[in-house]
Amino acid sequence: TGIQQLVASKLRDIPDFPQPGVVFRDFTPLLADGAALGALVRDTAARYAGRVDVVVGIEARGFILAAAVAYELGLGMVPVRKAGKLPGKTYRQSYALEYGTAEIEVHTDAFPPGQRVLVLDDVLATGGTAEAACSLIERAGASVVAVEVVLELAFLEGRRRLGDRTVNALLTV
Ligand code: 5GP
Repeated sequence: TGIQQLVASKLRDIPDFPQPGVVFRDFTPLLADGAALGALVRDTAARYAGRVDVVVGIEARGFILAAAVAYELGLGMVPVRKAGKLPGKTYRQSYALEYGTAEIEVHTDAFPPGQRVLVLDDVLATGGTAEAACSLIERAGASVVAVEVVLELAFLEGRRRLGDRTVNALLTV
């Protein structure tokens, strides 16, 4: 579709970042383009209007998308952050990286009971980050309506880690 072509044209591949052999999908050209960013945000918001109560962004690029989509929907935004950044009482979840582990957190009181959540991030790779975020959201008493990403790296099978949860990607490679 038009939006998929527009967004795809604004992503760029950076070889050997953050380490040799990895191709990093860089979103900064998309963020810098008002027409493309606006089209992405409006398209995403339209698909969830009336279906969610709040938008969660995963640090750090997810914050940018989540804040914009939440604003477009007239909703609030909740950050899922790397460990040690949130000031209040938190739930913490660790997950496996290629080498070692990482930890993310959400405030324990981030959601009123039963809130319906849209989770946003830029890229779904191995799915570890998104799965940990969903676990935190569910521990905090909310329900995940969908995990929405701009780009899914399907060859890493991240979707499988998310089990029965709904995962939607605008673009897939
Ligand atoms: P996962 O946990 O699914 O392996 O990795 C997803 C997380 O790492 C996301 O938060 C995403 O922002 C980041 N990430 C992994 N690979 C890329 C990439 O190629 N480009 C961008 N922009 N982010 C990536």
